[in-house]
Amino acid sequence: MIAVDIGGGTTKLALVNREGTLEQWSAFPTASPDADVFLARTLAAICDLQEKARVPLHGLAVSAAGFVSAGGVLTFNANLPWLEGARIGEVLERGAKLPVHVEADSNAACLAEYVFGSGCGTNRFLCLTGGTGLGVGMIAENKLLRIAHGCMGDAGHVIVAPDGPACSCGGRGCAEALVSTAVLRQRYGAMLCQEVSFRQLVEDSLRAASAACLLMEEAGRALGVAAASLASIFFPDRIAVAGGLAHAGETFFRAAEQSFRSHVGSLPASRATLALANSGAHAPLLGAAACLFYPELL
Ligand SMILES: [Zn+2]
Repeated sequence: MIAVDIGGGTTKLALVNREGTLEQWSAFPTASPDADVFLARTLAAICDLQEKARVPLHGLAVSAAGFVSAGGVLTFNANLPWLEGARIGEVLERGAKLPVHVEADSNAACLAEYVFGSGCGTNRFLCLTGGTGLGVGMIAENKLLRIAHGCMGDAGHVIVAPDGPACSCGGRGCAEALVSTAVLRQRYGAMLCQEVSFRQLVEDSLRAASAACLLMEEAGRALGVAAASLASIFFPDRIAVAGGLAHAGETFFRAAEQSFRSHVGSLPASRATLALANSGAHAPLLGAAACLFYPELL
């Protein structure tokens, strides 16, 4: 099958088989003047993969950042407003002449980890994906949980600090405003008065640079509180930390685990474990593949 991941910064594509092996990976910047130009470019990349495929293709699946309707329309994306309302499923299906499924990236990341990573064998699996935002997805009894907007709503905006920073959603003290890799990179840059990457922050925290460690500890504690709050509502038996946050390092994860254990109630604590995702950097593409190969999970 062909998997497409429409991210805030980059769109990625690959051929993927049922075992999760990727071939012919390619990428291009998502930024486009409008949805028509972007979809034409995506379709050209898809046609290129169709030519390279050596076996008949099962279909096409897309992971897209934001809210996605059942009909494959991107209904909301704060970072890509020009793509809102685009009939992604319909346009790609007509152009590629393949069955198409479009899924919210928070769900795709959860599916990838459930099928190919640390969620294997669990019954109630919650996945927190930290990147530009904080996506939350859950699979309960072998089915994606769709509570609002086809996913878990905006559960990454669960409030963890009443007097915390203002959030891009208009609220205050949301988990996303304290733990997304984009926010952490910005805050660390402000501390050092220079542009820094998230990787730089991680490396500095591993070298025990005090500002980086303090920031990572604070972020870890916030994530632990968010996980504890969500655990009391959804009673997962495993919670995975995925996306860029899965590579945030020991300081972050130790703080997250301690904070989770000290905040969570004893009943949800008796079944939930916190784990790092291990489905790898191509999780959104693997999640898109899982949509087609394991449709019973949808
Ligand atoms: Zn928020």
